[in-house]
Amino acid sequence: MGCELKKVGIIGGGPAGYALALKLAMGGVYACVFEKNDLGGTCLNKGCIPTKSILYNANLINKSKNLTRFGLKIDASELDFSQIVENKDKIVGKLNKSLELLLKSYGIEIVKDEVISFGSGKIDTSSNSYNFDAIVLATGTKPSVLKGIECDNKFVFDSDGILNLTKLPKSIAIVGSGAIGIEWSRIFADLGVEVTLIEAMACILPMADYDVSSRVERILKKKRVKIEKGVTLKSLIKNKLELSNGKIIEPQSILVAVGRLPVLPKNDLGLKVHKGFLCVDENFMTSQKNIYAIGDINGLSLLAHSATHQAIELSQYLLEQKTPDFSKKIIPSVVYGTPEVAWFGQREQDLIECNAQYKRVLFPVSAVGKAHADEEIEGFIKLLVNGEKLLGVHIVAPEAASLLMQFLILKENNLSYKLLHNVVFPHPTFSEAVYEATLALDNMSLSLPKNKD
Ligand SMILES: Cc1cc2nc3c(=O)[nH]c(=O)nc-3n(C[C@H](O)[C@H](O)[C@H](O)COP(=O)(O)OP(=O)(O)OC[C@H]3O[C@@H](n4cnc5c(N)ncnc54)[C@H](O)[C@@H]3O)c2cc1C
Repeated sequence: MGCELKKVGIIGGGPAGYALALKLAMGGVYACVFEKNDLGGTCLNKGCIPTKSILYNANLINKSKNLTRFGLKIDASELDFSQIVENKDKIVGKLNKSLELLLKSYGIEIVKDEVISFGSGKIDTSSNSYNFDAIVLATGTKPSVLKGIECDNKFVFDSDGILNLTKLPKSIAIVGSGAIGIEWSRIFADLGVEVTLIEAMACILPMADYDVSSRVERILKKKRVKIEKGVTLKSLIKNKLELSNGKIIEPQSILVAVGRLPVLPKNDLGLKVHKGFLCVDENFMTSQKNIYAIGDINGLSLLAHSATHQAIELSQYLLEQKTPDFSKKIIPSVVYGTPEVAWFGQREQDLIECNAQYKRVLFPVSAVGKAHADEEIEGFIKLLVNGEKLLGVHIVAPEAASLLMQFLILKENNLSYKLLHNVVFPHPTFSEAVYEATLALDNMSLSLPKNKD
């Protein structure tokens, strides 16, 4: 196939779909994107961007409460939440428009319609039929539901519906403590809403390293978030929520944040699926020739940066027949808020479980001057290494994701953490904690007291 490819139809205009369209157009292939809602997908319209906008506003409001120290009094009861929602809508609207302009600047065709069916080489909307050399499914996911609890987006919300809230509830129960549940717990707690976070597993943020989970728990508790761990929902009658530990709570609202379900347009191709997500081979091809699937819909990783990266790798395969290596990629995870949380690689509990050889350091953010200047002393950089090679990095700190990237570049290139020993880090910055953490691995930190062992 390779350069013989002339026309590609892409169903879905989220980070996977639009990034692929851009890359194909740059390579001289005609790309057509079908989008039934707004361009940008979940990420721009219902996920990454709107939640981070609200999170930023909530954090600002929370921080400004401390300004009473300087004689400036902020009365949170005066808070007009609808203004925060309006800010978010403006940002999303602006980005929607610039995305459309970006795609059009590359001559990408955008069909703003729902795909009602597709087959070999053919995509149908209710008004038209289109033919392509290849079809790419980038249709993403939608919020998952809880058995027996219906989301009416008036009292029980899902992560889509909560974005349209215009008035803050007095109290909210958040079910699920993954990234979405934690970010919304932070938002509501910062805005003065009583939050109960309910998690079925034994710890919150269960996919994280245990030091990260327990630090996030401590941070949330400081914000007065009540945490119910190892607990499931037993029943919901009116607004009475009965938990499996016998407790009954009566929140004014409930947010269900328990995962995502794939969105697959109608087809009679019998495409192979696993738990509803499309199965793909190493080239992102589904069980049907010339039909590919990238982004959330293939379930490999439900993150926007993974979706974009898959799009880049698929474009290289389609244009140059370069074999993708997504399965070998190290995918960073981030939970936003103050402080930020970011990690990649192995967790300490996994290393212990498989009796792996490793060395660890947990370098406190409070050991660098910038943390005190900014009054952001909560957090750490945790490094897990074998010899000179990084096994896992787990960070709780301001700008944790940016700090993490310095380690990820080393890891991707299979380089020694000691390379950072020879780099001059600017002072005062949080990046000094990156430098110092690598020094601490060899008992050479210039900020920590001498290790007595
Ligand atoms: C609350 C929330 C916060 C998130 N925060 C982050 C974050 O901070 N960082 C991060 O990396 N990820 C985050 N994510 C995940 C991220 O949004 C997704 O991983 C990403 O959007 C997946 O991209 P995609 O292109 O595969 O699918 P999507 O972005 O879901 O795009 C799929 C598109 O396909 C369209 N579509 C579906 N069916 C049809 C059809 N039949 N016809 C036409 N169009 C169709 C949909 O309308 C949609 O626009 C978050 C998700 C949520 C819900």
